[in-house]
Amino acid sequence: MTTIGFDTRQLLIGGQWRPAASGETLPLLNPSDGSLLTEIARGTAADVDAAVQAAQAALDGDWGRLTAAERGRLMLKMSALVLEQADELARLEALDVGKPLKQARADAVAMARYLEFYGGAADKVHGETIPFANGYTALTLREPHGVTGHIVPWNYPMQIIGRSVGAALAMGNACVLKPAEEACLTALMFGRLAEAAGFPAGAINIVPGLGEEAGAALSHHRGVAHLSFTGSVAVGQMIQTAAAQNTIPVTLELGGKSPQIVFADADLDAALPFLVNAGIQNCGQTCSAASRILVERPVFEEVKRRMAERYNALRVGPAMSDLDVGPVISPRQREIVEGFLAVARDTGLAIAGQATLPADLPAGGCYVAPTLLAPASADHRLAQEEIFGPVQVMIPFDGEAEALKIANGTNYGLVAGVWTRDGGRQLRMARKLHCGQVFINNYGAGGGIELPFGGVKHSGHGREKGFEALYGFSSLKTIAIKHD
Ligand code: NAD
Repeated sequence: MTTIGFDTRQLLIGGQWRPAASGETLPLLNPSDGSLLTEIARGTAADVDAAVQAAQAALDGDWGRLTAAERGRLMLKMSALVLEQADELARLEALDVGKPLKQARADAVAMARYLEFYGGAADKVHGETIPFANGYTALTLREPHGVTGHIVPWNYPMQIIGRSVGAALAMGNACVLKPAEEACLTALMFGRLAEAAGFPAGAINIVPGLGEEAGAALSHHRGVAHLSFTGSVAVGQMIQTAAAQNTIPVTLELGGKSPQIVFADADLDAALPFLVNAGIQNCGQTCSAASRILVERPVFEEVKRRMAERYNALRVGPAMSDLDVGPVISPRQREIVEGFLAVARDTGLAIAGQATLPADLPAGGCYVAPTLLAPASADHRLAQEEIFGPVQVMIPFDGEAEALKIANGTNYGLVAGVWTRDGGRQLRMARKLHCGQVFINNYGAGGGIELPFGGVKHSGHGREKGFEALYGFSSLKTIAIKHD
């Protein structure tokens, strides 16, 4: 087994590291070579229940008594510890998720930045006084929901923990975090760093386990006051149903089929790296992956040729060799992606560009050749369904109206990119695209921790990141005082 540096078979409840109540563990595999990395605790309903109780006790005790500024200071301290440990966190994330080391390191830096941003914001979110009837003073307070549940996927554990747990802590909630069973090493290390930063026991509780066991127990628990979920649409719908039974708010960050739309007047030199990177980053396992590239017909062939050149040159290898693309997360995910590539083959969707897998890749690794498919029709299955692998489809269009119809014509609405030099068109497109965020002449704004993020339609609802998340992780109370 690889050296991890701490006992990974424990979960964190009320400041105590301990095995799961069942005593059972789950294997954690290295997607770069299929080897057993380590074992993690198999948390179940009993552990979730203990974690929710510990979180409530923290709210009623030391954590709940801290001022907003004191909470913020703890978060800033933790941000500094995350930065200090960025190399180690990156190593663990790369081993666990299979993402190239430099991408994993960027995620560690992003987690530190989330903690810094939300730590700094903790004492800057407040209610207001409202002009009202004579003889009254009316005001609002922003209060924590209470115990918040965070169900996190395997694709960006550090970033998603940073943005959701970070915002929840800033507002004074106590958290129960359920990391994904495929990747949870950095979640466990997050717990250790929180301890080192001095967070009171129970403010952060971590219960690894299976989705249908620990995840389901957390989403149904009556002691949870808010749920934040990132993952698949199918599970998101189950989480929303569970939340409805307890009538609690839920933030859902689900999948996407996000387009980048390239008009003939675009600066193609500037666009090219973004077009490809947004498809292959983290091996395409990104909710905001630009899996559709819409190109205006006069420049379609040129963009196709230039993207294909990049695809053909992509280097694929184990996470630790830090090349352009690593493996996907699991044999199951590889099967899903290969299934889509088989559909492409069977329906005559042409391969425009494809990376070559080196012959000496570790036999047990979950590798898929990054593939560019073009041209595709807008209603093709691969142009409609989320693939969650390093596969992009190119779709030609004529003019703004057709670009919009195609871009808006899926069940999803997470992100869109628009490449054009025409200022009027930039704004027209931005207003008419049905999605949560639009990037003009860029894609992703370099991570944009300050920028609210979320979707419409099957991509989910609620916003994380930025200041907006702080409103989602708090509850507004109105007070009206009659004094005359
Ligand atoms: P998933 O939705 O099954 O898992 C995400 C998280 O939800 C994990 O922590 C998991 O343990 C938990 N979970 C699973 N079943 C649950 C349940 N019944 N109740 C409560 N929690 C539960 O995602 P996956 O199986 O890991 O991946 C499948 C597909 O989901 C991917 O192919 C991709 O399309 C999508 N996905 C999207 C994102 C995203 O960032 N939006 C992330 C991961 C996966």
